[in-house]
This record gives sequence, C-alpha cells and structure tokens, in this order.
Amino acid sequence: LPDLADAVGSPNLLTDPDVVAGYCVDWTGRFHGGAAAVVRPASTDEVAAVVAACRRHGLALVPQGGNTGLVGGSVPGEGAVVLATTRLTAPADVDAAGGQATVRAGTTVAALHAAATAAGWDYGVDFAARDSATVGGTIATNAGGVRVLRHGDTRAQVLGVEAVLGDGSVVSHLGGLLKDNTGYHLPSLLCGSEGTLGVVTAARVRLVAAAPARAVALLGFAAMEDAVTAALALHRDLPVLDAAELMTGAGIDLVCRVLDLAPPFAARHAAVLLVEAAATGDPTAVLAEAVSGVEGVVDAAVATDGPRRAALWRYRESHTEAINHLGPPHKLDVTLPSAALAPFLAEVPAVVRRVVPGADVWLFGHAADGNIHVNVTGVAPDDEAADDAVLDLVAAHGGSISAEHGIGRAKVRWLHLNRSAAEIAAFRAIKRALDPDGILNPGVLLPEG
Ligand SMILES: Cc1cc2nc3c(=O)[nH]c(=O)nc-3n(C[C@H](O)[C@H](O)[C@H](O)COP(=O)(O)OP(=O)(O)OC[C@H]3O[C@@H](n4cnc5c(N)ncnc54)[C@H](O)[C@@H]3O)c2cc1C
Repeated sequence: LPDLADAVGSPNLLTDPDVVAGYCVDWTGRFHGGAAAVVRPASTDEVAAVVAACRRHGLALVPQGGNTGLVGGSVPGEGAVVLATTRLTAPADVDAAGGQATVRAGTTVAALHAAATAAGWDYGVDFAARDSATVGGTIATNAGGVRVLRHGDTRAQVLGVEAVLGDGSVVSHLGGLLKDNTGYHLPSLLCGSEGTLGVVTAARVRLVAAAPARAVALLGFAAMEDAVTAALALHRDLPVLDAAELMTGAGIDLVCRVLDLAPPFAARHAAVLLVEAAATGDPTAVLAEAVSGVEGVVDAAVATDGPRRAALWRYRESHTEAINHLGPPHKLDVTLPSAALAPFLAEVPAVVRRVVPGADVWLFGHAADGNIHVNVTGVAPDDEAADDAVLDLVAAHGGSISAEHGIGRAKVRWLHLNRSAAEIAAFRAIKRALDPDGILNPGVLLPEG
C-alpha cells in the first residue's frame, strides 16, 4: 500500500472496504470480486508507477473504466488492485482539419462525441452506455455498437494508442498518420485485449463526417425471419443507413412494463426493426422509399425530430436495463453468418428451455451485423447449462461466441469453440511477452495456467 500511495498520492489510493466494494461488482450484478485497493492515477507516468509496484509485489492489476462491460472483465479477483481510469481525462484534442482526435482513456464515449460534434465531425462508435463507457474500455473490448454497419468497430477507428504494458514499458504512437506501415500494429493488438496486455492511457482516433439530419423508422413484422431479411436488404440498398436494430414483441412488452412506456404500435408484432438513416440533408424520403421496397412490413412509425427519434430509440436502448430488472441475466452476445441468423433465432429459445425449462430468453441486437444478444433470465448466476447450450449452437452455425462484448470472465471456458489450440498458444506467447509476470487481469480472456 505505501508503494501504491507513492505512485498515485494517498488521496487516490482507496482502501475503505465500503468504497472498494463499489468497484467489485459488474453492471449486471452477476460477477462479484474482492479488491484489496483501488488506485486512481492521473497520468501515464502514474499508471507506469502502479504497474511497477504491482510487479514488485506480485499483485494482480485490473483496469476499470466505466464498469459497463457485460462479461465480468472489469471485476477484480480476491486481493487484486483495481486501476480506475476516472482521472485519466482531459478535453479531447481535436484536429478539425484532419478529422482526428487525441483522447485520454478515461474520457467517456459521450464526451468524445460532444468534442467531435463541436468541431463539425462525429465519432463512429456509439451505444446506449455512452455516458459511462470510456474510450479506454471501448478499446480494450473493441466495442461495436449501433453504427458498426456504417463505420466499423472500435478497432476501425483507432489510429494509434498510448499504453503502459504489463512489463512496465510505455508505448506511445499518437501521430495519426493514415499510412504507416512500420511494423506490427499495436493498436490492433490492444483493441480487444481486455486489459490483459497493457493499460491504455490515450488514443488517436479517426472521426467521421457529421450527418446531422436523421430519420428513424420502427417497423413491425409478423415473423423474425422477415425482419432479418429486411435488415440485410436495407444494409445493401440504403447507403445512409446508420443503424438496424432488431427486437422482439416480448422484449418491447418488457421494456414498456418496466419503464412504464406506451407501446409503439396499437397491435403487437413478433419482430420489430428500428432503422435510422443519417445524412447531411433530410434522409426521410430516401428512407421511406427504401422501406417501401421491403417485404413483410406490417406496421411503421417514423420520427424525424430529436425528441420523437429519442422516444423510438428508447424501446431499443432500454432493453439491457429492463432485462436487468428480472435479476442478473446470462448475457450471450454472439454473431452468426447472415444466412444462419434467422434459423439461429428460431432455434435458440427451445435449445435453452431444453436444458433450463423455466428460463426466459430475450433476443435483440445489431441485426445487419449478424450480432444478437441472447439474454437468459430465471437461471442461477453460476448455472452455466444455458450458456453451454447457446454457445454450442452458435459454434455449430459457424458463428462467434463473442461479437462485441469480449470474453471476459464469462466465456473463458468456451474460447476453444472459436480458437484453435495453435491460436490460444499464440495468444499465450503474446501475453507472456508483454506481461511477463501475468499481473494484468488474470483469469480474463485466457484460461489461467
Ligand atoms: C446499457 C448498455 C449497453 C451496451 N451496449 C453495447 C453495445 O452496443 N456494443 C458494445 O460493444 N458494448 C456495449 N455495452 C458493453 C460496454 O459498454 C462496452 O463493453 C464498453 O466498451 C465498456 O467500456 P467501460 O469503460 O465501461 O469498460 P469496463 O467495463 O470498465 O472494462 C471492460 C474491459 O476493459 C478493460 N479496460 C477498461 N479500461 C481499460 C484501459 N484503459 N486499458 C486497458 N483495459 C481497460 C477492463 O479490464 C475490462 O476487461 C453495453 C453496456 C451497457 C450497460
């Protein structure tokens, strides 16, 4: 503790058990830990000093941003030190001419959006946890979100990173050159590394052209398959498509019940697709024309002004919160090849109920990416039968057991479904090279041992 206090200053070393406890449970309430202390460094040098102290004393170090991760990756094991990035913030340094920004790791996604917008640009990654999720956390998880279909995932935005690696060295490459073939691309490696290789302290990100004119349509379908086909068709035919989010009638009912909202349609529909178009000029007509060519639409609500658009988005963005009201869910964020998405959606509820008869299955996600969030409630936190069944089904369809949330603690034991022994051995070799003492986030992403 004295070494950690030297590293960050006593006021930024937290050891009061009641305070520390707040850093030891995840957003869903499913994963709990027990840290010895929390440190809040304010600079890269302080992060490096924390890493050095943890190496000296053989302490596990768990980076934590907004703690909105959904796979338990930011939850410390017993006796670990949490490195909270709350003080690694500063106003984003926006290069308005070049369309890039240098941003510190603890900055929230919402703050980065605000800085980009003020400079006439936008940031390509966005999702419901924007007010808490941090740039460092989104890099560590390679976050996706609602705009991947147009702008790609976080990895596609990151041009350079600064990080303190597990061996204590500082790497910093924030020049933002668009063409820079000078060896291994460390930003790509750190994207999705889930805090196991280094602590990200800053990043250089690309910005995307602002598209302030927006239109949202909520489309009702009688069958899930029709909604999936529609999402893929709109992705192909509508270049200004910014989001295509799939929901079920049951999910919308739950959101309305928990948040006390009026339903979006007079009738209930088996599947609902939220689509958003964004452009410099009003995209309503082009969205309406594209939707009119889509088969299977049985109901539609359209919004162009900000408050009405937000009201339609609320049905989608409140899903995670509404499901949490039913108790800690098992969250299985997966991707399917596009042709397998509809069959998977049809099969998965029965597959879950075969192993956990009383469970409820909630399905929603980023349909055009093939990305579905399978949420299972009514199952004990440590009962993994449903997880097993769903992830086996995903693998059987040629999908990925983690689309955008990462492996964390939740999915370590299924990594082999997507990664060969040779790939896992290569992962371990990289981990040993950059974190030789294994202090960074042990038990996350890679099986221990
Ligand atoms: C309502 C809601 C909606 C969501 N929607 C989406 C979505 O659409 N798409 C999506 O991809 N995710 C989504 N998420 C999940 C989550 O917001 C993302 O995974 C996000 O990237 C986590 O950021 P964070 O700052 O909260 O990281 P944390 O939860 O604090 O940490 C996540 C992981 O990153 C590591 N980490 C954090 N900061 C650093 C750092 N500076 N350096 C190294 N490692 C670090 C942690 O150790 C942990 O392994 C959602 C979550 C919620 C609650």
